[in-house]
This record gives sequence, structure tokens and C-alpha cells, in this order.
Amino acid sequence: MKIGEVAARLGVATHVLRHWEDEGVVVPDRTSSGHRDYAEEHLRRLRIVQSCQAVGLRLAEIRLVLHHDQQGRETVIDRRLDAIRRQRAELERAETFLTHVRTCRHDLVTRCAACSAYARTERAREVTSDC
Ligand SMILES: [Zn+2]
Repeated sequence: MKIGEVAARLGVATHVLRHWEDEGVVVPDRTSSGHRDYAEEHLRRLRIVQSCQAVGLRLAEIRLVLHHDQQGRETVIDRRLDAIRRQRAELERAETFLTHVRTCRHDLVTRCAACSAYARTERAREVTSDC
């Protein structure tokens, strides 16, 4: 499969695929005339790369994740898992707050203990992350 076809199927520009190749993330085969030749396996890997990017992994990290025997792989994965869990906790706090605000009977959110409690947890988080 030619690079143009792969780019169209994945919805990315060809220079992106060349960059991922330069970075050693997904390296296609070459035809006898030297053109890039992507197999279905490459396409599957490229889709995984896209998914990894969508959850915030950088290319260097993705390269580690894709190769099972890479040194530092577990550290990269664990670090990203920690970040995802922190983000999920933040989103859950925001959801709880907004769900409450929707039905909050106070004329000002600052007069509501539940609303103010949310602001306190947010500030506490910011202070912690500065450390
Ligand atoms: Zn409230």
C-alpha cells in the first residue's frame, strides 16, 4: 500500500507518516524501486499510534509502548496511567460539582457549602501539583 493511500485511510498527512517513520515508530517496507510499502500490519500499528496520541502519549513513549522488550516501557505506561487516573478524578469532581450546581438552591454559589467545597478541593490540588 502506498503512503498516499495509507494517509487517506488514516486521515493524516503523508508528512506525518514520514515523521513517524523517521522516529522509528512505524517503519514500512520498501518496494524494489525504493517506494514505501505499507502492509495491513503497519496500518494496525499506525492506528494504535493514533490511539496512543489521543490519550496524550508522545512519539518517543509510543515507540517504547509498541515494542515489548524496550527498557523503560513499564515506567512510561505507569506514568501515563497515573495521569489518566488523576484526570479521571478531576473530571469526576467537576461532574459532581456541576450536577450539584444544576439543582443548587442558593442564590450565589459562594453561599453554598457544597459549592465552596468544590473550590477548596480544586485549590488543594493546584497547591499539590506545584510541589
Ligand atoms: Zn450549591
